[in-house]
Amino acid sequence: MSRFATAPNPIRSLLVANRGEIAVRVIRTARALGLRTIAVYSDADAGAPHVRAADEAVRIGPASAAESYLNIDAILAAARATGADAIHPGYGFLSENAGFVRACDAAGITFVGPSADAVAAMGSKIAAKRIAAEHGVPTVPGYHGDDQSPETLAREAERIGYPVLIKASAGGGGRGMRAVHKAEEFSSALSAAQAEATSAFGDGSVLLERFIGRPRHLEVQVVGDAHGNIVHLFERDCSVQRNNQKVIEEAPAPNLTPAAREALQDAALRLARAIGYTSAGTVEFIMEEGSAEPFFLEMNTRLQVEHPVTEEITGVDLVEWQLIVAAGLPLPLAQAQIHARGHAIEVRLAAERADQGFAPAIGRFVRVGPVEGMRLDTGIADGSEVGLHYDSMLAKAIAWAPSRAEAVARLSAGLARLPVLGTPTNQAFLKDCLARPDFAQARATTRFLPENFPEGWAPEPRALARVRALAAAFWMWGPGGGAAATPLHARTGFRVMGARRPARVELDVSDDYGTAKLALIRGPEGASAEVEGETLPLTLPSGEGWVHEGLPVFSLRDGDTVHLAHDALALSAQVGLAIEIDSLAKVEGAGSGALTAPLPGLVTQVAVRPGDRVAQGATVLQMEAMKLVHTLAAHAAGTVAAVHCAAGDTVRAGALLVEITPDEEED
Ligand code: ADP
Ligand code: ADP
Ligand code: MG
Repeated sequence: MSRFATAPNPIRSLLVANRGEIAVRVIRTARALGLRTIAVYSDADAGAPHVRAADEAVRIGPASAAESYLNIDAILAAARATGADAIHPGYGFLSENAGFVRACDAAGITFVGPSADAVAAMGSKIAAKRIAAEHGVPTVPGYHGDDQSPETLAREAERIGYPVLIKASAGGGGRGMRAVHKAEEFSSALSAAQAEATSAFGDGSVLLERFIGRPRHLEVQVVGDAHGNIVHLFERDCSVQRNNQKVIEEAPAPNLTPAAREALQDAALRLARAIGYTSAGTVEFIMEEGSAEPFFLEMNTRLQVEHPVTEEITGVDLVEWQLIVAAGLPLPLAQAQIHARGHAIEVRLAAERADQGFAPAIGRFVRVGPVEGMRLDTGIADGSEVGLHYDSMLAKAIAWAPSRAEAVARLSAGLARLPVLGTPTNQAFLKDCLARPDFAQARATTRFLPENFPEGWAPEPRALARVRALAAAFWMWGPGGGAAATPLHARTGFRVMGARRPARVELDVSDDYGTAKLALIRGPEGASAEVEGETLPLTLPSGEGWVHEGLPVFSLRDGDTVHLAHDALALSAQVGLAIEIDSLAKVEGAGSGALTAPLPGLVTQVAVRPGDRVAQGATVLQMEAMKLVHTLAAHAAGTVAAVHCAAGDTVRAGALLVEITPDEEED
């Protein structure tokens, strides 16, 4: 019988009140420990990886988070119905909701986390800073008083000195913060911040902090048990952020004096002891560049997104420790037995347009992983659909190595070999971040992104040209390739095999990053592509073993779309022959009266029905291809014999769309 079944708080079954990668990750450990696992899901997640990973799954509501993953009644009902002994909340959603902890307590279900009081105390940034200050933990200079009148707050802002940061006391996830640079702007910024805080977090209270220009974000992992033991598991550096949310995290923090490291660990343990903390938690600090004095920011009373880097350097499974503590058992190791080894780095993979100010992307993934040489904690798999209901984070890639430089290299190599096809992600952006000298030399502050990508990120032009050329090559020569599918195959003189003279074909490519014209050239010397005056050598598609410049090429044909990734840059492209649309339609239709699709695209309008009379030049249909509207016209007067498509159809290049019997052929 497992130690959990015989523990003071027996746990035999665990419900995971979350979704995505963290639900999958918690279920993995729970199953390994012999617990029965129960997933919950919204309508948007039926069939999601976390549902498949669990022993049982219960639907808790429609897609909206408020009606599903934030619905306390539905989650407790699922726990009762399945006889769950315990609930793990993951992060986000209900993980820091003291009301949920109380509701679990009242229902006699073990909450895998700290006490409701600890969650409540640390859930308010104002209360947390007061407790920290009372226990000699240095906090960011500022104001965290109860008097919330605009006059007092304006006076306090003046005292702190501009720039100041207005923060929602109940905020989280990088939201609810506003920097104010001048006294004149304070009162309008304050009313906006209070209104935002009220609507987003249900609590308008704010605190003020000195706005620190170039800080590092440092944090300490702590775990306490019900037997009075509290330990730390070293620190993490999460300075690379966008919109105050972490993008890259690592452990241990590089470039830190022993004194600063000790100050961090001491402060974190002091605060955790002060509140009698049980379970895993994270004490967050910022430290001004060049200083060795960390300031307390807040405490997160839950498992953190970036917990894997700590697991990698300590060998501790933090979910297992959370379950041990929740079961009422003592921590397995004392402080002196916990050692850090090597270095671990994590990047957060998100369905995001890093090239468009990190706007969320939506769509369906047609291929995800696997990858060797790094840990991938993922909530998506082949076929997963991402929408806008939940956070854009999809997965985390984590690499460990004996040294930091090797960990960076492994993570970078892992990203370059990780296939994620179908919907845009920030994968190439993450790899570019790792390659920046500021990161390689451990100089990152929270200003890393604006300083390293002042114009915003965009794919490196050569990398983009290469991926486009590979996509075109796959379209042309891959299985079911365009060369054979197009009616122009013979006319262009383009041969797949055995051409004596170099053959050349002009193509248009339209993808996530725009459109491009390129030429594929194939001769006895091999294949190459010409893109914007540059010649790129090409390796020809060869199924799963396709390797170009030492890195795998991942490719997939999905209707008329080619999905292709190489060296961490993925795109979904429409490829077609670069042909003058009118001339093509005329040439193709000559004699036969057949109108075919000159390019793969979407039929938007069909203007004729069988039996209709059409004059020469009359519009027969319109289609959208390569982001342009193309009109297909009758090349001769006649009668519509057949219509093979309807508005809304996606059609392949060369597809027969409409047949017209020209007048002179009629009897
Ligand atoms: P971490 O502190 O573990 O790095 P993040 O700040 O990135 O985590 O938040 C993790 C997830 O939890 C995100 O989906 C974020 O939006 C959500 N989250 C964190 N704090 C809150 C909060 N107070 N209210 C609502 N969502 C939150
Ligand atoms: P959240 O609850 O959203 O995680 P935090 O207080 O932990 O809020 O702050 C999130 C991030 O915002 C920090 O990691 C840091 O980058 C930035 N930040 C917070 N406070 C300050 C400050 N006083 N000066 C400069 N940046 C800050
Ligand atoms: Mg924080």
